[in-house]
Amino acid sequence: MRRVLIVGGGQSGLQLALCLLEHDYDVTLMTVHNASELYAGRAVSAQILYDKSRGSEREYGLNFWDEVAPPLTAFRASSYGSDGTRFFDWIGRTEAPAHSIDERVKMSVWLEILEERGGKVVLHGATGSDLDHLTRMFDLTIVAAGHSGLADMFSVDTSRELARMPPVATAIAYVEESPDHPDQEIGININPELGHLATWPAYSVNGRCSLMLLTGRASGPMSRFPQRISPQEHLELMLQLMAEYFPHRHREYRGARLADDRAVALDHTHPLVRHPIAHLPSGGSVLGMGDTVVVTSVAMLQEANNAAMAAKVYLDAILEHGDRPFDGDFMQSTFDRYMEYAQYFTGAVAARLHLTTPDVTEFCMAADTHPSLADRFGRDYGDPPKFAEWFAEEADLRAMIAEAVENTSTAGT
Ligand SMILES: Cc1cc2nc3c(=O)[nH]c(=O)nc-3n(C[C@H](O)[C@H](O)[C@H](O)COP(=O)(O)OP(=O)(O)OC[C@H]3O[C@@H](n4cnc5c(N)ncnc54)[C@H](O)[C@@H]3O)c2cc1C
Repeated sequence: MRRVLIVGGGQSGLQLALCLLEHDYDVTLMTVHNASELYAGRAVSAQILYDKSRGSEREYGLNFWDEVAPPLTAFRASSYGSDGTRFFDWIGRTEAPAHSIDERVKMSVWLEILEERGGKVVLHGATGSDLDHLTRMFDLTIVAAGHSGLADMFSVDTSRELARMPPVATAIAYVEESPDHPDQEIGININPELGHLATWPAYSVNGRCSLMLLTGRASGPMSRFPQRISPQEHLELMLQLMAEYFPHRHREYRGARLADDRAVALDHTHPLVRHPIAHLPSGGSVLGMGDTVVVTSVAMLQEANNAAMAAKVYLDAILEHGDRPFDGDFMQSTFDRYMEYAQYFTGAVAARLHLTTPDVTEFCMAADTHPSLADRFGRDYGDPPKFAEWFAEEADLRAMIAEAVENTSTAGT
């Protein structure tokens, strides 16, 4: 039986661990918190998983929340001036629902199940020297420990486009559902001064709720978040920023109440791609996965999908590799295979969305009056390679806009 060590109990690490167990691998997972600590702790992140990324969870019976999580069936993209001038405000329907489950709920259940199904869980924050020793005891060691700490073992790939994007700060709050903010969609609001506000229905430790997310340049208005702040103060600061930069949404959320008293998180990231292999002093190598090696801007709402797809691609590669050694060639080719999926939101598509190039602005304005464009966005956004087919290049996007305009005028004659 092949022995695999996975360091990190987030979306990518736990998903891969649970799937490998089903194929009779001997799996050890090292992580920091046990299930009860995760569940009772402070919120760690937000995640939206689109239908395609939820495929593995369905295939391996890990989709325990399908009946209770609110279905996210559309994107609503809007931009208003501070005086209320509407630039655009459109809804694009998804082909199949996305879900957003608080990691405190999902990871605590997955961790328990991993142990019940025979996986070994070691509660210990691994260090580089631990790994130097441990890799000798396993056929393959994968580091999926998030974007800080152990991630520094993997050198940054400065040749990637995204590495030149500025650091980003993100604040989230899970708030109680309310008739005042009856979000049905994944609401994305853009204000170039701050960045993005996103809101959507989610499922957290106290059941259904709404999620508020503000993300933007760490040196911009988001720098107002101090290091130490109570959850209530964190919510109040988010509402204050919404009042200043997204007044049309603030009206709906001004009475928002935290869904539980630990329902907030603040995060700083630097979008980048790292080299996937870290070499250890005694000769071993470890393979990075998920946020450890690929961090996109949170505003793209793709990161958790990347983590889930990484787990799927790595699983397929491990299974196909059979009994051969998990050497450097295996590690590099597995990562390259993953980047065939992840390249768009680490490269051209991310850069165009982030910089809101003139053709992207034109698309957003055109989608306001041409629902076929809005729906095309909604349908393809959760499938990056498909989305990139028409969004990655200016010429393709302009052709798509022209076609929609032409179809509308033909229909009107
Ligand atoms: C505030 C915030 C908002 C976000 N919003 C969105 C969003 O809207 N949409 C989206 O798609 N994504 C979002 N993300 C990102 C998304 O949550 C991550 O991309 C995703 O969770 C990455 O999964 P992962 O498995 O790579 O790492 P993580 O989920 O970060 O898991 C890492 C795990 O490793 C453990 N660990 C850390 N260090 C060690 C160590 N030394 N030894 C052992 N274990 C260790 C941690 O405890 C954790 O369990 C957000 C993240 C944050 C922080």
